[in-house]
Amino acid sequence: MQSLIIVSNRLPITVKQTIEKSSGGMVSALEGLGDRFNIQWIGWAGGVVEDSERKEAIASELKERFNFIPIFLSQENVETYYNGFSNSSLWPLLHYMPSNARYEEKWFQNYRKVNRLFAEKILEHAGPDDIIWIHDYHLMLLPALLRDKRPDLTIGFFLHTPFPSYEIFRCHPKREELLNGLLGANLIGFHTFGYLRHFRSTVLRLLGIESELDHIPLENHKCAMDVYPIGINTKKFQDILGAEAFSRRRKALRKVYRDKKMVLSVERLDYTKGIPQRLEAIEMFLEETGRKDVVFLFISVPSRQSVPEYKELLEEVELKVSQINGKYSSLGEVPIHFLFRSVNFDELCGLYCLADVATVTPLIDGMNLVAKEYVFCQKEKAGALILSEFAGAAQELATAYVVNPYYVKQISDTLKKALDAGETEKRGRLEPMKKRVEKHDADFWAQSFIEALKSCCQEVSPPVNLSGLSPEIMNQIRSAGRGVLFLDYDGTLAEFEKTPQAAPPSGEVEQLLSSLSNQNQFDVYIVSERKKEEMDNWFSNFALNLLAEQGCCYKEKNADNWISIRPETDLSWKDHLRDFLKLYTGMTPGSLLEEKTTSLVWQYRNADPDFGAWKAHQLVSELQEMLSNLPVQIHHGKKSVTIASVQTSKGAAVSHIMALKNYEKALCAGDDEADESMFRLSDQRITGIKVGPGKETSADFQCPSPKALRSFLEQLLEQP
Ligand code: UDP
Repeated sequence: MQSLIIVSNRLPITVKQTIEKSSGGMVSALEGLGDRFNIQWIGWAGGVVEDSERKEAIASELKERFNFIPIFLSQENVETYYNGFSNSSLWPLLHYMPSNARYEEKWFQNYRKVNRLFAEKILEHAGPDDIIWIHDYHLMLLPALLRDKRPDLTIGFFLHTPFPSYEIFRCHPKREELLNGLLGANLIGFHTFGYLRHFRSTVLRLLGIESELDHIPLENHKCAMDVYPIGINTKKFQDILGAEAFSRRRKALRKVYRDKKMVLSVERLDYTKGIPQRLEAIEMFLEETGRKDVVFLFISVPSRQSVPEYKELLEEVELKVSQINGKYSSLGEVPIHFLFRSVNFDELCGLYCLADVATVTPLIDGMNLVAKEYVFCQKEKAGALILSEFAGAAQELATAYVVNPYYVKQISDTLKKALDAGETEKRGRLEPMKKRVEKHDADFWAQSFIEALKSCCQEVSPPVNLSGLSPEIMNQIRSAGRGVLFLDYDGTLAEFEKTPQAAPPSGEVEQLLSSLSNQNQFDVYIVSERKKEEMDNWFSNFALNLLAEQGCCYKEKNADNWISIRPETDLSWKDHLRDFLKLYTGMTPGSLLEEKTTSLVWQYRNADPDFGAWKAHQLVSELQEMLSNLPVQIHHGKKSVTIASVQTSKGAAVSHIMALKNYEKALCAGDDEADESMFRLSDQRITGIKVGPGKETSADFQCPSPKALRSFLEQLLEQP
């Protein structure tokens, strides 16, 4: 049976005198996968265990009883990785609260260390073809750490929080590292499409990586993305609602709240949950209606009390509750019952069943299971759910009383409406939500994610590699004097840089160019859209032929002069276009205009990616109308629009040189639209290699990256 390794910050256990397994929605959902997978679960055992004998005893008990593998954290790690980086740096930012977000360098160092600790533990246990499913923001670096060591693993990541907009995520000092960490996954799951959309745009804006709607093509793998809203453990709720003991409990609770309408709030005491705003709305409601027949019950579960913001929130909430109660209580009647503790499961279900209204008004929430649990528990009578539009659950529970949690008056008015609504209205709202919650439960969530993850790994067809090139072609290229390489530079030999000036040959690229200079098995042309002068500056130290300005002219190695391929080219159109292109440069900050002998190039590598792409499309469509009678062609390449004479192209130049030198075999490599003119030549002697992702190419072969092409060329040089 295939192994599935679940990885989360915490194992679903409590370790006290004995070890107990907790029974949250995720646990049971994942257990539901047990008939198809051999499941192991890796996570922190909770607390700090110093004694090594005790650690061993815990580890062996967990392994034996549950197939769980514990990670033990030191006190320092708990403070820095968990309370610090995870809960005081990431959590507030992921929840749109940069003013609560703090950062310390040491926190990140330890976050990285703990993520590595998890990676080591996983690698100890992961066999070939295993599936790894990582959960949540505590482990954002883990996918890439694993992929780096074991590219064969299938790695899924599910984010249980929102993913905020780029403008928020960009505030984080370690934003790029965090994104790169996540991109190690084969599949990233989000609760809503909104979070996925923000993630894509953040990856584009911070890392410059373009994506498709449902995946990001990367050098060595594809990172798919999709939406999987988590559901509740319906079976557990069903079982308790049918139990005799529960019915007695519910009767007892009903006595406590007889003659009263009960409005219920259940949540961890967290600043994302909108508690102060809700209290203000309750105060407004009490002030305006003077009602004495409504009791507001708050179950506020203690959470993260060692983080200062949570302590402050508790003080603020307690103060507000006592002010309201002080003002609106009468003898024997207190409007707000505030419990700062958790309740046991049957009590919670009893309260869900009894509550006339549930108020779930977080300022932001990844999903919010309480809303779904409340809906599911409505049986005999229909309760009303007041739900924040900023909870992920609002996407699915659209017939709730949806409110803006920042709009206190709206919450207060909605409370009145919900309390006074008739059974028919409430039932009409409830039934569609119930159906949804029943069907899309936790099992459904886990099964859908795992199905998608499995199909990701089945579909991994390695990027076309160059090993398919037949030895015959390789030998023909190598035969001295008869073979030739035409190698584009930017994005092909060297990685595409943000500014055109930032890419002179260095490191590996420089070494390769030296090796290509020092051999005589075949000729080499460096092909570029760059200007002659720039190519002179960059490549004069190498004994290589140069082909500049998109095939306009070439210079043979060790020669002094450039030779025009078509000296008679008509260039009068450049004067018509120059000022028009300058207009676009003016209105698109970060863009620039480059003038070359037979072309004008509008570059937008440094512009805002969306704005640049939008202006480029606008430019291309305006040019198409303007230029219909001129002897020019337009290329919309990588972050640039080139207007060049129809008589020049890299393909035409390659043809010209092939005929002139009578080569018998050529390899052309390139990465963008302008290079396709080489691949499109219908010449049996030419083999094309497209570098980088992208399906539309006329090349015969494709390789994933400049790095991969460089290592292929090194091999070509090594094997005689
Ligand atoms: N819950 C609990 N004990 C309590 C109150 C609530 O176990 O005393 C559970 C509740 O049933 C729900 C979870 O805590 O499953 C809260 O999940 P939610 O998604 O609403 O918020 P989160 O705490 O994950 O932010």
